[in-house]
Amino acid sequence: MTDFDATRALFHLPDGVIYLDGNSLGPLPRATSARLARTVEQEWGEMVITGWNRAGWMAMPRALGDRIGRLIGAEPGSTILGDTLSIKIYQALAAALQMRPDRRVILSDSGNFPTDLYMAEGLIETLGQGHRLVTVAPEEVADHITEEVAVLMLTEVDYRTGRRHDMPALTRAAHDAGALAIWDLAHSAGALPVDVAGGGADFAAGCTYKYLNAGPGGPAFIYVAPRHADTVRPALSGWLGHAAPFDFDLAYRPGAGVERMRVGTPPVLQMAALEASLDIWDRVDMTALRRRSIALTELFIAEVEARCPMLALASPRDPERRGSQVSFRFAEGYAAMQALIARGVIGDFRAPDIMRFGIAPLYVGEEDIRRAAEILGHVMETRAWDDPAYRARAAVT
Ligand SMILES: *Cc1c(COP(=O)(O)O)cnc(C)c1O
Repeated sequence: MTDFDATRALFHLPDGVIYLDGNSLGPLPRATSARLARTVEQEWGEMVITGWNRAGWMAMPRALGDRIGRLIGAEPGSTILGDTLSIKIYQALAAALQMRPDRRVILSDSGNFPTDLYMAEGLIETLGQGHRLVTVAPEEVADHITEEVAVLMLTEVDYRTGRRHDMPALTRAAHDAGALAIWDLAHSAGALPVDVAGGGADFAAGCTYKYLNAGPGGPAFIYVAPRHADTVRPALSGWLGHAAPFDFDLAYRPGAGVERMRVGTPPVLQMAALEASLDIWDRVDMTALRRRSIALTELFIAEVEARCPMLALASPRDPERRGSQVSFRFAEGYAAMQALIARGVIGDFRAPDIMRFGIAPLYVGEEDIRRAAEILGHVMETRAWDDPAYRARAAVT
């Protein structure tokens, strides 16, 4: 069991704020500042370059990968950190396409996050082998898994609506058709139990700055199924993915297993921040987290629907079919969210009309949910959002 009052006490939450945006950027764990200061002062400051060995910096991508691996059901030694999620998607896709040389279709859906689709487009151009990206409606994915498909590339939990794909079933369908499956876990890792090994995923990737609370710019992770890890060909063949980086060979030889998915120098300070956050995650039981997430999302939907008839639920009503966020549609959603933020309830907005609320049980409780729904109810009832000041769009929405 996990004591969620205890985990909440481990986070710094700004005064007077109800934070429902941990699906975009997780809040600061209280231990992070001291952990960062230690890395900066005692490791970088005192050890200088010897920190790579003495402080174990070089081994961190793999060690932290295993700790994330527990949260996503990965086999030990199959998950590694580095770069950004966009880059990890590119790596996974390049490797998977090479494993299906006689097929040309990458199947994805319109609920995927644009960067995944953009990275696929860029890779297709670079390869110049006539691959095609086919993007269908989320509910039609299963019908489009044909023997032309090389790779099924999906995000498990839709970033806008929170709709959750059936990962094991779609992976099985892909395999039955001779295709491979890549899963983006951006809104899954730390949001709900994931079982990449049990579900048969070939590749998976995710970020650490959302539910995993590693801070802005936290490194991404990539999972490669052990059955592929020693044979995949890394498209981004950087020196730290080499079998022996410090031999400084002129020719590239891929490293053992998932090590080959490393590219260049790892972000040590960001990994130190992630380490502080994983100290909390190590104590979390994902089944308990999921139970609590469902209770809180159900409560939020009920409270908001009771007060705000003008908001339309955009998330699936069945909790089994959604992640740990709740979204509502409202034509003036951007202004409404700004009005809400001005009143201390932080969610965010995704064009054209989605108001998103991330509900992370580690630091969000029932009281927060009731209070947030009350404030939202007030904003909607009084049309407090109907003010030009709330319509001015910032660069990040
Ligand atoms: C947040 C998110 C990303 C972001 O990718 P970065 O390279 O880390 O900026 C990618 N995919 C999905 C599904 C996301 O939600």
